[in-house]
Amino acid sequence: MKLHSLTAHQILDLYKTQKASPQEVLKDVLSRIGLIDSRVHAYARLSSQNDLTQGVCAIPIAIKDNMCTKDEEITCSSRILKGFRPPYDAAVVERIKQNAGMIVGFANMDEFAFGSSTETSCYGATYNPWDLSRVPGGSSGGSAAAVVADETLWALGSDTGGSIRQPASFCGIVGLKPTYGRVSRYGLIAFASSLDQIGPLTKDVRDCAMLMNIIAGYDERDSTSVNEPVPDYTKALVHDVRGIKIGVVKEAFVEGLDAQVRTAVEGAIDQLKKLGATVKEISLPHAPYAVATYYIVATAEASSNLARFDGVRYGLRQSPANMRKNGLMDMYEETRAKGFGDEAKRRIMLGTYVLSSGYYDAYYLRGQKVRTLIKQDLDEAFKECDVILTPTAPTTAFKVGEKISDPLSMYLSDIYTITANLAGIPAISIPCGFSKQGLPVGLQLMARAFDEEMLLRVSYTYEQNTEWHLKKPSL
Ligand code: GLN
Repeated sequence: MKLHSLTAHQILDLYKTQKASPQEVLKDVLSRIGLIDSRVHAYARLSSQNDLTQGVCAIPIAIKDNMCTKDEEITCSSRILKGFRPPYDAAVVERIKQNAGMIVGFANMDEFAFGSSTETSCYGATYNPWDLSRVPGGSSGGSAAAVVADETLWALGSDTGGSIRQPASFCGIVGLKPTYGRVSRYGLIAFASSLDQIGPLTKDVRDCAMLMNIIAGYDERDSTSVNEPVPDYTKALVHDVRGIKIGVVKEAFVEGLDAQVRTAVEGAIDQLKKLGATVKEISLPHAPYAVATYYIVATAEASSNLARFDGVRYGLRQSPANMRKNGLMDMYEETRAKGFGDEAKRRIMLGTYVLSSGYYDAYYLRGQKVRTLIKQDLDEAFKECDVILTPTAPTTAFKVGEKISDPLSMYLSDIYTITANLAGIPAISIPCGFSKQGLPVGLQLMARAFDEEMLLRVSYTYEQNTEWHLKKPSL
C-alpha cells in the first residue's frame, strides 16, 4: 500500500488497527520525496531529525521555512537568513512536536512570504505537481505542492494576503487561514504583524479540522493571541448545509475572472443550493480597494519587521574586510544589498515610503481608514449571511516566469483573498473543479471571526458530495 497517498485520518485508522506504524509511514514519505522532489522542489531542506517518531499520533508534516524550529536552519527562503538556527521552537512547532510528531522538512516559499508563485525563493522555484511548467502559487507554494504530491501528509503555511489559500487553490487541496488571534504566531518570522496568521494545508477537510485541533489556542507569548475557548473542530464536520445562508460577492464575478474559474465556482454554488443552502448575491462595495490597501499596510509593516536583519544578530553578514569608510553602516548596507532579493527590496522601499513623514497621512493613515471600511462591509454582510463565497483566485496556476517581471499582475492574484486578512476573519479554500488543461480551481469561503466551524461544516458537506479532492496529479 502507498501510505504516502493516504490522508492523515486514514493513517490514524491504520495505526489503531496496527496495520501501519509511524516508522513505516515516515519511511514511505521520505522515499516519495527522494523519488520526486528533484522535479517538484517543494522542500527548502529536510529535517535533520527524521528518526523522531515519538509523537502521540505521528503524522508526517512539512513546516513552511518561516517558522522557528529549534536548532534547524530556518531562512524564510532568503539569503539573508542563511545559517540562522533558532534557539527555540515556534508555538505551532512546539504543539506539533507534542502532538503530531514528525516534522519531515521545511517547505520552500517566496522570500519572506512576499509573492504568489514561490519563484522568489533563494533556493529557486517550486513547480506545480499538476503541470511542472507552472507555479504552485505562493507564498506557501512548497507546503501546498508537498501535500498534493504526497511528499507529506500535512503542511503548515502562513497567510498574510492569501498565501495559504491561493496555493491551496492552485494545487487542488484544502487551505485554511484561521481568525487573526486563533493560532499563536510566537516564533513565526513576521511579515506584516497585523495580517499574518498560520494555518493548515491538507488533503481534505477532516485533516484540516484535525490539524486545527493541534495548532489553535491561546498563547501568552503572542500578544495578539485571543483567549477564546477552542472547540473540537472535528465536531464541526457535519454533513448538512440546510438553512445556511451563503452570500455570493457580486464584485468578484467581474472582468479579470477567468471564464473556466467562473464556471467551476458557479457549479459549486449550484451544488450548495441543491444541498439546501440559501444563496443570495451580496455586495462588498469597498472590495475593489483591498489590493491597494493591502500593499500599503503590508509593505509598511514589512519594512519595519525586516529592519532587524542587519547582519548583526541573524544569518548573513557581509565581510567587514570590504568596509569602506563608514564602518558599521557599510556592513549594514552590504549585508542588506547582498542578502535581500529584488521583491524584498521593492517592499522595503514601498513600505518605508508610505510611512515616511509627509506621506504617512496620505498613504498609511488613509490605508488604515479604508481597511476599516472593508471590515464594515463584511460586518454588514454577516448580518444577513453565515458564509461569504468568492473564487479563491482569479485564474488557475500560471506559467513559471509569466508574472515574475510584472509585480502588479502578480499582486492581483490575491484580489479575493486579501479581504479576509484585512478584516481578520477566517477563510478557507477548497477544490471545486478543474480547467480543461487539468488545473485545479479553488472555492473560497469566509466566515465571522472565530467561526472556523462554519467554514469546516460547509466545506465538508460540499466535499462529501464531490470528488475533486480525490484526484491526484500523475508525476
Ligand atoms: N501574495 C501576497 C503578497 O505578496 C500575499 C503573501 C502572503 O500572504 N504571505 O504579499
